[in-house]
Amino acid sequence: MNNHKIDILDRNLEELKSDMINIGEKAFRGEQIIQWLAKGVNSFAEMTNLSKALIEKLEERYTIGTLHQLKRLISNDKHTIKYLFLLHDNNIIECVVMKYNHGNTICLSTQVGCAMGCSFCASATGGLVRNLTAGEMMAQVLAVNNDIMELGWTEGSPAIGGIVLMGSGEPLDNYDNTLRFLHQIHEPKGFNMGYRNITLSTCGLVPKIHALADEGLSINLAISLHAADDETRKKIMKVAKVYSVNDIVNASRRYFEKTGRRVTFEYALIKAVNDAPSQAQELTAILKGFPCHVNLIPLNENSHSSQKRSNEEAIKLFTFILKSAGINVTCRREMGQDIQGACGQLKIDYLK
Ligand code: SF4
Repeated sequence: MNNHKIDILDRNLEELKSDMINIGEKAFRGEQIIQWLAKGVNSFAEMTNLSKALIEKLEERYTIGTLHQLKRLISNDKHTIKYLFLLHDNNIIECVVMKYNHGNTICLSTQVGCAMGCSFCASATGGLVRNLTAGEMMAQVLAVNNDIMELGWTEGSPAIGGIVLMGSGEPLDNYDNTLRFLHQIHEPKGFNMGYRNITLSTCGLVPKIHALADEGLSINLAISLHAADDETRKKIMKVAKVYSVNDIVNASRRYFEKTGRRVTFEYALIKAVNDAPSQAQELTAILKGFPCHVNLIPLNENSHSSQKRSNEEAIKLFTFILKSAGINVTCRREMGQDIQGACGQLKIDYLK
């Protein structure tokens, strides 16, 4: 990327309108540009309702997106596609899109690498490299949306109906850019993604969960809990040394009370670590009276961790204990196993 140019995907509508005024154009040109960008155009020349003079001004000042597709893997069942994208500074990020009956959902990265160091996660291997900009998050949505439209995944436009911030990185550790992205992707004149169709996943940064609750956005919250007691959680998640399970669940309850949006607790079932019946009972106790959802995920094993997924009997018993206690529980359908579905895995294998 030319360092003097700004990534236009990083600009929100108000900023673009004022940019237009600053270069001697009418503010409404900003709206036209946002509409074109939401359609996934890759060049200003495609913006056919703009004058040639304006297109030249835009080309001088901005680039559109900063992603270059390095690799695309389609699962055998053709329901999951994993992408590797190269950023302008030669960093690489991953992104996944999944085809569900209720629509296509993209799983985005919010950082290059991750500082949180969860033991079961391949994204944590190299630590945090840098935060992604809002524009780089926008670019993932637009590139994948274009791609699956071309693949005929949908008749409609846009093809992406849901977003989960659950790829590489901890979104709340990149709070300002993530918030900016959420506002931009929601922009009614632009991509117009409903907040209710967005889920933000966090490993439990308690002060940031409280801050997000106060933003007044109706997005869904997913908490990577993975253990119901602090001692077990500390063994698999570094963040557990800072925030207790109790504080995380209390922040989640407050999030639900303030937003009315569903909170899901993600729980990766790891053999002989967190899958004992007593641990299921402990989980039912801490979630008592909380109208939340628990998503059990048999661990997606990867070659970078020695941890193993729970066996089928343990998974069934764990699920049964939660269900019997009246907890709304599902066991996640595994998608894309044949294309290194676990986050961070494809990138590491590619770099090798
Ligand atoms: S699971 Fe999420 S928070 Fe934990 S290291 Fe991986 S990307 Fe970071």
